Amino acid sequence: MPTEAVYMDHAATTGVHPEVLEAMLPYLGPQYGNPSSAHQLGQAARRAVSDARERVAQVLNCGPSEIIFTSCGTESINLGIKGIVKAAGGTGHVITTAIEHHAVLHTVEQLEREGHEVSVLPVSSEGILDPEQVRATIRPNTRLISVMYANNEIGTIQPVRAVARIAHEAGIAFHTDSVQAAGALPLDVRDLGVTSLALSGHKFYAPKGVGIMYLREKTKIQTQQQGGGQEHGLRAGTENVPYIVGIAVALERADRRRKAYNAHCVELRDLLLDGLLRALPDSRVNGHRTERLPNNAHLSFRGVEAQAILMGLDLKNIYASSGSACVSASLEPSHVLTAIGVPREYIYGSLRLSVGEATTREHVGRVLSHLPSLVRRLQALSPVAAAS
Ligand code: PLP
Repeated sequence: MPTEAVYMDHAATTGVHPEVLEAMLPYLGPQYGNPSSAHQLGQAARRAVSDARERVAQVLNCGPSEIIFTSCGTESINLGIKGIVKAAGGTGHVITTAIEHHAVLHTVEQLEREGHEVSVLPVSSEGILDPEQVRATIRPNTRLISVMYANNEIGTIQPVRAVARIAHEAGIAFHTDSVQAAGALPLDVRDLGVTSLALSGHKFYAPKGVGIMYLREKTKIQTQQQGGGQEHGLRAGTENVPYIVGIAVALERADRRRKAYNAHCVELRDLLLDGLLRALPDSRVNGHRTERLPNNAHLSFRGVEAQAILMGLDLKNIYASSGSACVSASLEPSHVLTAIGVPREYIYGSLRLSVGEATTREHVGRVLSHLPSLVRRLQALSPVAAAS
């Protein structure tokens, strides 16, 4: 990344923090033992994994036996959802929301293909789920409710405690994709009342390719891959020792810094939003005003295409995202923006700017000095914008 670059895409991924890298390095070098080996090198690796598990359990307020290390958020989600739904044998019913990440939506679609029933609940125009709708959708054969803690595109925070309570009262398992929540929201699993929770290291300054799954003790689960007995027999495969060490340090660090991190992000995010709304008053902010991740700004601009905005910003070394894979008018618009009813003339011109630890006021200033003029230039060329 050029030194003068402005990285506004922390919701996509974060860089590995030096403190995390330092903790990992011995396990990428001389401490390369396999935790299953009985000799000293293996036992040192085993201790590192078990120490990491203790640290993660401490942050999540659970027992170490309830922590399973995985390869990513997607794997944690697949294991949590498929594992719980399939554990009882036969087929059942699953409830989720229309704005989940594809890691959840495509997983429940797969369950549907296998004969399970799935209810996908709508959300409000601000992207919030009504817990009472969950209660009304429960059937005698409902096996699992899966609701994300915070949305990756528009940053809305869902009422997961309320949904977890409803699930608990009905004796149904509750899974939450908390990949975007880590670092910003409390992750005390007892307080949240969840059965299972998924995290991904690369969203909180650990490397890509390592995840965490919390699974409440005694929960019946079907393993999703066969092999050795690692991770309490629930996730076969030799442990990725350096990355497990890294994710534990990163999670502890994120938890320790959460208050300061949130204050830092809110200040810069609001500076960014206020400046953009002042310069482009006919733009819309998507998501909820207050129930949103501190680092998330998501806007739509009338009559323009996100791809053109992203390319224009990239030329200025400003890195942002539309928040979804499909941004062009020739493709399907984002399922999240469709679910919250963003009008057609706005939906393709949607941009996610997500700030992070290293974002500065100067970075925000750089965005404010380029983005409004870029959007106005694109709007001047747009028949949709001109017609309004
Ligand atoms: N869930 C959400 C909300 C995400 O934002 C992401 C990643 O963008 C994932 C799941 C998938 O995580 P991973 O990339 O670790 O598989």
